[in-house]
Amino acid sequence: MKVVLVRHTYNADQLAAIAAKVCYSNQSIEDMDMDEQYREKLIRRVVKSGHHSVLEHVVFTYSIEGISRVATHQLVRHRIASYSQQSHRYTAIKRESFVIPQSIADNEEAQKLYNEMLDKTVETYEKLVEMGIKKEDARFVIPQGVASNILVTMNARELIHFFRLRCCVRAQWEIREAAIEMLKLAKKHAPVIFEDSGPACVKGRCPEENPCDNIPEIRAFFKSL
Ligand SMILES: Cc1cc2nc3c(=O)[nH]c(=O)nc-3n(C[C@H](O)[C@H](O)[C@H](O)COP(=O)(O)OP(=O)(O)OC[C@H]3O[C@@H](n4cnc5c(N)ncnc54)[C@H](O)[C@@H]3O)c2cc1C
Repeated sequence: MKVVLVRHTYNADQLAAIAAKVCYSNQSIEDMDMDEQYREKLIRRVVKSGHHSVLEHVVFTYSIEGISRVATHQLVRHRIASYSQQSHRYTAIKRESFVIPQSIADNEEAQKLYNEMLDKTVETYEKLVEMGIKKEDARFVIPQGVASNILVTMNARELIHFFRLRCCVRAQWEIREAAIEMLKLAKKHAPVIFEDSGPACVKGRCPEENPCDNIPEIRAFFKSL
């Protein structure tokens, strides 16, 4: 899987601070002058207080390539976002276009079974296309492990929510991998907005019924990103 940050709001932290300042000041936007320390204080205040609408002005667009349809199906459940996904109505599925979970790759017998199934599936798909069946119908034989490319745009408010759910060890491994890469990239360009981002336990109590027993390590990992 390859995650690339395609575009992002320029001076993201600064824009969030300006949006917050508009709420608390009589000043015109042209006269707003904030030093770095004050900006950071303001962003931390809105993030902590839940005044998250100011974060909606900050937007990130990512490309995710080589991610399975298993994971993109979970990704697109996040509704406060925009998506453009590679279409299998128009692009052909190749034998190499499948994600192999590590648990299968690590098990010789499982890998053999998986590969045999994919060989047969892709052969059937290609035969159907050769017979004149449209790709949009031939693809019905394809399993969910098929890889795909997707462009996703989320604002910072939604990203914080997304990271909370999908960076958690309880999330499925592939969407978690994507979410962690996305967070790393977001932190580079908006270090204050995302400084406490990650699963819920990074800043606060774990909401799970049975929390995992390595929360200090998880916190340290996300702080270090
Ligand atoms: C570990 C895990 C397991 C899951 N298991 C399943 C499963 O078994 N089956 C399944 O179907 N799904 C499952 N999901 C998906 C989950 O239920 C959500 O659909 C998905 O995480 C999107 O989150 P969301 O709805 O909070 O967020 P988004 O769509 O990203 O929305 C963000 C927030 O906006 C608000 N919002 C958005 N739309 C509405 C609305 N229509 N009404 C009110 N408020 C709204 C909510 O506050 C929401 O939290 C799972 C998710 C996780 C993380």
